[in-house]
Amino acid sequence: MGNLQQLIDDVHGELRERLGEGKIADYIPQLAKISPNKFGISLATTDGKIYNVGDSSETFSIQSISKLFTLTLALGKVGDGLWSRVGREPSGTRFNSIVQLEHEMGRPRNPFVNAGAIAVTDVILGEYQPKEAIAEIVRFVQYLANDSSIIIDKNVANSEIEHGDRNFALAHFMRSFGVIKHSVDEVLGVYFHQCALAMSCEQLAKSGLFLAASGKNPINGYNVVSSLRAKRINSLMLTSGHYNGSGDFAFRVGLPAKSGVGGGILAVVPKTASIAVFSPGLDNNGNSLIGTIALEIIAQRAGWSVFG
Ligand code: GLU
Repeated sequence: MGNLQQLIDDVHGELRERLGEGKIADYIPQLAKISPNKFGISLATTDGKIYNVGDSSETFSIQSISKLFTLTLALGKVGDGLWSRVGREPSGTRFNSIVQLEHEMGRPRNPFVNAGAIAVTDVILGEYQPKEAIAEIVRFVQYLANDSSIIIDKNVANSEIEHGDRNFALAHFMRSFGVIKHSVDEVLGVYFHQCALAMSCEQLAKSGLFLAASGKNPINGYNVVSSLRAKRINSLMLTSGHYNGSGDFAFRVGLPAKSGVGGGILAVVPKTASIAVFSPGLDNNGNSLIGTIALEIIAQRAGWSVFG
């Protein structure tokens, strides 16, 4: 596989002078406080090695990357029945768009737009109290990363609730169509907490490694999902993991990945590695600008792409 440490060191060094490009998420004050100069990369390989550079051990708000973990958890609970509540098509709209929902009778396009993720969280809530559901999500992510130190940033969660009007609108709208079964306050209470999970690149790369290894976590040997399910989750990340920038990301990077407005991206190189990058400056679609460029260069130099 060549010298992967050298590869990420080079990319980190080459892009450092561009930090500050893009716009930091400012829809909640807690996220707007982050320094634009943070930049970390972690690369975990299916043979159990991990390579880090820059701010790779610094925790940040994973935001929508959590949608990948809650999707995996919900599929484990209800299996393919999940698809009666949420679709599998790219949205071509912004992450928090409400327009499509009206045309499509409240059924969200995919599990990675906000509406879809809120519907998935409703499924996880099931018979639980919100606190229990939040605890289950945290435990699941800790299990995936093999790291019990992962926690939720309560300040971010509270800030999301205070500034969550758009998500409340989405949830109420879906509830009016019966797509959401619990009260909007309960579902969003859980959703905002999952978005507020604080993780480092290293923890993220480890937690996504099962998707690169046919569903089995090579670090601890746990079977997380079947290889068919891992493939399908990867397909969804490829088609919908970057909101209305998903096509451009597939074109440039050619790997399944999920981004979050906190500036993180978790990418999967099937049968090979998972890569987490963190740089908070965002492009116009709300995806990490330098993070995307870093992944583009890493994939090119390593010869990684799901397209051959
Ligand atoms: N908590 C954010 C929201 O629901 C997540 C957005 C994102 O990471 O794309 O608005």
